[in-house]
Amino acid sequence: MIHIKISKTLEKKIRQGYPWVFHYQVQNEKVEGKPGDLAVVYDSKNQFLAIGLYDPESDIRLRILQTSNPVDIDNCFFEERLNRALGLRDNFPGEGTTGYRIINGENDGFPGLVLDRYEETVVLKLYTSAWVPYLDTLITLFKKTLSIKRCVLRRSRKVAALKGISKKYNEGHLLFGDKLDGPVRFKENGIDFEVDVIAGQKTGFYLDQRDNRQKVRLLSRGNSVLNVFSYTGAFSVYAFAGGASSVLEIDSNSVALAASRKNLRSHFLNRNFSVEEFSQMKADGFDALSELELGNQEYDLVIVDPPAFAKRKKQTNVALNAYMKLAQAGAKVTKKGGILFAASCSVHVQPPSFFKAVFLGIRSTGRGYEEISRTSHAKDHPFIFSEGEYLKGVFCKIN
Ligand code: SAH
Repeated sequence: MIHIKISKTLEKKIRQGYPWVFHYQVQNEKVEGKPGDLAVVYDSKNQFLAIGLYDPESDIRLRILQTSNPVDIDNCFFEERLNRALGLRDNFPGEGTTGYRIINGENDGFPGLVLDRYEETVVLKLYTSAWVPYLDTLITLFKKTLSIKRCVLRRSRKVAALKGISKKYNEGHLLFGDKLDGPVRFKENGIDFEVDVIAGQKTGFYLDQRDNRQKVRLLSRGNSVLNVFSYTGAFSVYAFAGGASSVLEIDSNSVALAASRKNLRSHFLNRNFSVEEFSQMKADGFDALSELELGNQEYDLVIVDPPAFAKRKKQTNVALNAYMKLAQAGAKVTKKGGILFAASCSVHVQPPSFFKAVFLGIRSTGRGYEEISRTSHAKDHPFIFSEGEYLKGVFCKIN
């Protein structure tokens, strides 16, 4: 088994639950191993500290599976972890939700692995090829534990670029079950959605925004809604379900906009939306907001949920500036007394800095605001370390 030496500082962090060892933190000169090999970390007193999955192809060289007491990493280990994760989510079906995250990576004890359920389909997304040797074990476990029809494999961009796994496990590879002949249907808080689990972003749907969508539903009655970065229209369908008078969507991706129209049609089967009620702009979010401002357009509720602006730490300041600008542009098209919801999913932007940027953006318009609430992930996205807490949002009343 591989042995890895680390500093005392990192040792302390790992004891507190930090789940990664980066390549530059490995202190032994030569470590040899394949993706997925088990590696043990000993503490400064030469006692067992942690065991994890080794990945020579990733900057995150070791992803910790277990700390404090040594255990066998076998089928029972993974089964126990999965059952624990399921226990945290067992009330979803009762709430009318059949699309939710079953495993949230390191935060549920499966570092670098996400498992999302869409009714009877699960999507397994890998952020490291270290899980490839365990795929058979996982498939057997999923078949035994979850009542599902199929399991689709998705890989992060970095994993997709690796030669070793790209041939056998291409994007959207069916790990087991019946072939899909179209999108998968599921429910979220009683609302019907369709998701493209093979080509859609992430695993096809942004499940992490569920609670914020529910808030939007409650704030929508009789209101005009602007949904910027609308993707497949999840916020829009909730807004109409909550009684919104109109929704305008903005997104640069025409496939997402088409999927959004379909989601609206499939939830509101007997309703024909007029152009005054529902419309879309295929445009850059920043440009479209300026255009709306120039045309003196204003909305009761403005949702701004952009893609991650800081994928690397270096980009943090650029991202904060973009969040500030978006909040400014969003506030400008919010009616007096209306509500702006701004969100960020950038890992490298900490919640306090994000909120500060949003408030700065609103204030720069000369308008006053009242903070209504700050929000985070839905409960199927627990986090055990700061990198796991990526989603932050804030609802503000604009005066
Ligand atoms: N709010 C959505 C998720 C948004 S994901 C939901 O709840 O499902 C971010 C979206 O922004 C994607 O659909 C992507 O196509 C879109 N996007 C990315 N860059 C953009 C840009 N510059 N202008 C407009 N849309 C953009």
